Amino acid sequence: MRDFDIIIIGGGCSGLSLAYQLEIKSKLQNKSLAIIDYRDKYYRDKTWSFWKVNEHDFEDCVIKSWDQFSINSKKGTLYKNCKKFPYQSIDSGLFYNKIINKLKQNKNVHFLKSKNEVNLNSSVIFNSVPEIDNASGELWQHFCGYEIEAKKEIFDDKILNLMDFNCDQKKSVHFFYTLPFTKKKALVETTWLSTMSNHEEEEYDQQLKDYIENHLNVKNYNLIYKEVGKIPLFRTSNINNKNIINIGTAGGMTRLSTGYTFLNIQDQSNYLANNLENLASRKTFKLPSKYEFLDKIFLRVLKKNPRIMPDIFYKMFKSKSDKIINFLSNKSNWGEDISIISKMPKIIFLKALFEK
Ligand SMILES: Cc1cc2nc3c(=O)[nH]c(=O)nc-3n(C[C@H](O)[C@H](O)[C@H](O)COP(=O)(O)OP(=O)(O)OC[C@H]3O[C@@H](n4cnc5c(N)ncnc54)[C@H](O)[C@@H]3O)c2cc1C
Repeated sequence: MRDFDIIIIGGGCSGLSLAYQLEIKSKLQNKSLAIIDYRDKYYRDKTWSFWKVNEHDFEDCVIKSWDQFSINSKKGTLYKNCKKFPYQSIDSGLFYNKIINKLKQNKNVHFLKSKNEVNLNSSVIFNSVPEIDNASGELWQHFCGYEIEAKKEIFDDKILNLMDFNCDQKKSVHFFYTLPFTKKKALVETTWLSTMSNHEEEEYDQQLKDYIENHLNVKNYNLIYKEVGKIPLFRTSNINNKNIINIGTAGGMTRLSTGYTFLNIQDQSNYLANNLENLASRKTFKLPSKYEFLDKIFLRVLKKNPRIMPDIFYKMFKSKSDKIINFLSNKSNWGEDISIISKMPKIIFLKALFEK
């Protein structure tokens, strides 16, 4: 067993983001760091997208940025402008390469496969491996995406489609999400918000084939990349203690109502790296508690009334673009919160407020 000054367990998005911040803030000049991840190798496995509400260090990993997005429901299509906060997609393969190449230049940084190789007693430990004791009845955002290349120019690459609810909901909440990277290439995802108790929801390949061929009308295409994932829309059981600080999804960085996590991870990494020397006396970095509260109510409504959710999302997105983006990116002020909350069906939300 080897001794290190800092140990990061899980070298995914948050583990590597934190290591990167430690490196560029010169915190690893006299300190050793072990990053523990059981992966054999790093390759693109996720596409992280978000509205760019603040600067981040990964502009060079952005595949595409859009200034417009749309939402489809039975009620029609909403077209939204987001020039002030462009929607960006990051290729995780480029992100991993950038960080690992940077860290490999520092001989104080070590990549290891297992916790058994290190002495966990004497270090500052950051953990990004989620602990999930019992997820039965809990909500997940689960999805599968195909990046396809069509033979013809078929996509409008100026506008992404955030949610298309014109599909079978199977008593849950289901939508498709289309990110057109070029006129020929797009990432198309089938996304569910559910407790994952109906396994038909996981017949992703069939759903995607049908949507691509019969809805988007792309008959001739090649599948060039596939990603599958699930994001817990509940807090994991990880608990911070004297020397373990949880980060990323394990550290509560996921917005429960949306699954957006990437930019929160960047904020958390910045905070932890800036305060490395006095973390014990600093507050734990958390998402603002008003979003925890509002998201929990929102998810109670979603769980009980999946049928009305396409309508609720549609109404929410009728708000001014900046307002709704700020709200979904945890940057809204109380005025913006109230304006969005006032669009929700009052009785259903009030009932959810008093339910357990
Ligand atoms: C497919 C996918 C797409 C997503 N898209 C978006 C998006 O568009 N926008 C957004 O904001 N969020 C998105 N998210 C949510 C979130 O941003 C990601 O899940 C992000 O990767 C979370 O970072 P993390 O460090 O918490 O977890 P991870 O990135 O999963 O990192 C955890 C690491 O721990 C390692 N590990 C696990 N168990 C062990 C163990 N026992 N020992 C050693 N290592 C271990 C894993 O190999 C992994 O590298 C997405 C999630 C998924 C799954």
